[in-house]
Amino acid sequence: MDKILVFGHKSPDTDTITSSLVMEKYLKNKNIDAKAVRLGNVNKETKYVLNYLKIEEPELIDTLEDGQKVVLVDHNEFAQSANNIENAKIMQVVDHHRIYGFETSEPVNYRAEAVGCTETILYKMFKEANMEIEKKEAILMLSGIISDSLLFKSPTCTKEDIDVANELAKIADIDVNTYGLEMLKAGTDLSDLSAEELVKLDAKEVMLGNVKAVIDQVNTISIEDMLKRKEELENEMTKTINEKSLDVFVLLITDILNSNSQVITLGKRCDLVEKSYNVELVDNTAFLPGIVSRKKQVIPVMTQNAK
Ligand code: MG
Ligand code: MG
Ligand code: MG
Repeated sequence: MDKILVFGHKSPDTDTITSSLVMEKYLKNKNIDAKAVRLGNVNKETKYVLNYLKIEEPELIDTLEDGQKVVLVDHNEFAQSANNIENAKIMQVVDHHRIYGFETSEPVNYRAEAVGCTETILYKMFKEANMEIEKKEAILMLSGIISDSLLFKSPTCTKEDIDVANELAKIADIDVNTYGLEMLKAGTDLSDLSAEELVKLDAKEVMLGNVKAVIDQVNTISIEDMLKRKEELENEMTKTINEKSLDVFVLLITDILNSNSQVITLGKRCDLVEKSYNVELVDNTAFLPGIVSRKKQVIPVMTQNAK
């Protein structure tokens, strides 16, 4: 019980998993007994990274015990965190998202920066503490940055992320573009995933003003191939809408090579998508040129239009 659990958000992505592992290392360097855990299945992109480094997936947890000490990385919204987070003891947060629905009863170390990846902040924390970054951590950090920035193409990517990535590439001694493209492509191999798995893959439950939404993002190299599964995806989206009493479900199918998305949306507030992107939905779907970032181009824009 004394061990501090370190984790990122539900439906974990590469930043969430790698940041948990890097944060575990950071805390251990400070002689703090910490353990990285995860709140859901590891996606294929992240598996590529863990296989590359020959390291094991963090242990899966579900519900926290009351009073459990935790460190949150890559998220802060309780709706995206572990079950019973309300009754855990949050020791520290390192994040790069909007702050929403976060509350503690005691003082907390909270570090938020508007950069493209949690790993960029962790890199700075290692530097500030004069901790050496070893090759393994360098590759973990670099993978998180490549993933969140879609190889530096996302509008969330800052100069700082790029500078840090270049430093990490030197330590890791790898070619960022070759490694990065391999890693991203590994994540787009979705053929053996069920529709149910696809609508949960990178799903985030968020409030857009008063509108209760789930926004899921699936990376692909062929929007066309994904659209072949539109009907089964819509069935699963409808199930989730009913289960969680959602106002809208937004599925972004993101073409990582051309930096566009196709949206499929269902629910009584689909109009928000039309309003936000000035598009007309035909059969619940529309093409959104240049839209790749949920954090910057979807959540704030839809929240604004929900008012
Ligand atoms: Mg994340
Ligand atoms: Mg992130
Ligand atoms: Mg993401």
